[in-house]
Amino acid sequence: MTHGTAPASQTAEAPSALLEVHAAVVAVLGLPELAGISDRRARGAHCLWCDYGPLTTAEAVDLGEHKTDDVAVFPRACRRCAGRRAHRGMYDHHPDCETCRTTEAGCEIGRALFRLAREGRR
Ligand SMILES: [Zn+2]
Ligand SMILES: [Zn+2]
Repeated sequence: MTHGTAPASQTAEAPSALLEVHAAVVAVLGLPELAGISDRRARGAHCLWCDYGPLTTAEAVDLGEHKTDDVAVFPRACRRCAGRRAHRGMYDHHPDCETCRTTEAGCEIGRALFRLAREGRR
């Protein structure tokens, strides 16, 4: 129904290799408990999930700013972890999403998950 929250002008592909993920997509990926994570994970230097690192810009998936208690953390993931979770997330998201079920293009979240899953396979 009301699905359009992101302004269309923001959808241009950024020239940078860094993947940034919309908060709604991050929610589908499912973040672990962020309170008490190691500093290098909180800064996004290492992968939030597998602790691989230090991540280069080309390898990292930016998961955005999150708040734990009163501190802000900026977790990032390696493409493999993000891709694996996005792949699973597609199956969680798809049956619940009217847009993805009824249109070929799918919604923004569905497309972002697909893109992440594809990137993670490289
Ligand atoms: Zn990882
Ligand atoms: Zn969808």
